[in-house]
Amino acid sequence: MTSSARPLLNRRLAEFGTTIFAEMSALAVRTGSINLGQGFPDTDGPEEIREAAVRALREGRGNQYPPGPGIPELRTAITAHQLRRYGLSYDPDTEVLVTAGATEAIAAALLALLEPGDEVIAFEPYYDSYAACIAMAGGTRVPVTLRAHEGGFRLDLDELRDAVTDRTRLLLINTPHNPTGTVLTREELTAIAELAVERDLLVVTDEVYEHLVFDEAGHLPLATFPGMRERTVSIGSAGKTFSFTGWKVGWVTAAEGLVAAVRSAKQFLTYVASGPFQYAVAEALALPDSYFSAFREDMLAKRDLLAAGLTEAGFQVFRPAGTYFITTDIRPLGESDGFAFCRALPDRAGVVAIPNAVFYDHREAGAPYVRFAFCKQTAVLEEAVRRLKALAG
Ligand SMILES: *Cc1c(COP(=O)(O)O)cnc(C)c1O
Repeated sequence: MTSSARPLLNRRLAEFGTTIFAEMSALAVRTGSINLGQGFPDTDGPEEIREAAVRALREGRGNQYPPGPGIPELRTAITAHQLRRYGLSYDPDTEVLVTAGATEAIAAALLALLEPGDEVIAFEPYYDSYAACIAMAGGTRVPVTLRAHEGGFRLDLDELRDAVTDRTRLLLINTPHNPTGTVLTREELTAIAELAVERDLLVVTDEVYEHLVFDEAGHLPLATFPGMRERTVSIGSAGKTFSFTGWKVGWVTAAEGLVAAVRSAKQFLTYVASGPFQYAVAEALALPDSYFSAFREDMLAKRDLLAAGLTEAGFQVFRPAGTYFITTDIRPLGESDGFAFCRALPDRAGVVAIPNAVFYDHREAGAPYVRFAFCKQTAVLEEAVRRLKALAG
């Protein structure tokens, strides 16, 4: 017991009490609602990859501490994937690090690369762990707001340039972007790269949705742009690409010095994780192109199904160019407060969604937006769409 008036949760983390996902998922269970809040698939990934994990476990591969940087088979599979997809060449021994999901990669990168007081620029709305990890590292987050336009949420490059100060150390980029579904264009990425080079900034880029870009042109890794390979920490994850979010296998690819820095922090967070799953993910990364295109096609059909249903229910829909999330504007429904709307939605329609305001520092800028996940079975999405029609009255 403590009798002191001092709060138990420290000041750095005080604003991050519990995530909205916990609240909304509990609400979904309590009300028997369809949970389109949290972004995890409701079916597992490929059976053969699941079996590969079982085999590794049975054969005693990965049941004891795997090597700190990750098993060699997985590091080689990651570098082969980066080369085959993007023409990016990394040394599997010195330029790859396997992590406990992208979440640990983000944490370790920020803990390793920031000094207290360093400024980090991130696009708002941002994935919720960014703010917490910047805070844990003692950094200062500087949000640059993605603004809603007819076709979606876009970056204002002038605002980005203006946000850079002498204290800026790092740009924290996310493309395809959760929660807006924005995919940065070649022009935007070129401008970001030029800015990073000109101001000598490090870049951490979260590309966990690299295989969910719906445009045929596909994903453009920031590390492929001029001057970026040597200053960019690229983050990937098996969770989203192979629909095994519980396995927590992620990775970092970067130049040797950056990987060494990130590894220094990572070794004292988990040291290692997910031993047998690392063997399975090594096999998953080597799946033929047909797996990746079928995965994308399936999600594209689901996007279109949910987007049509949300439009019919009266939302303004920002059709995502990537990820498995749709951000909507609730104002056409006569609503303006996403929090209140999401708390009432289970009773009104039996569906759970997430208020985008939680992903903003400028909460008012995110107030009318609400996010729905479509990584769910078609029948579940059809039922959700049927229920949401209740809103149209
Ligand atoms: C899901 C997600 C992560 C976390 O990935 P894990 O591999 O499950 O840790 C990181 N960034 C974004 C943008 C995500 O949506």
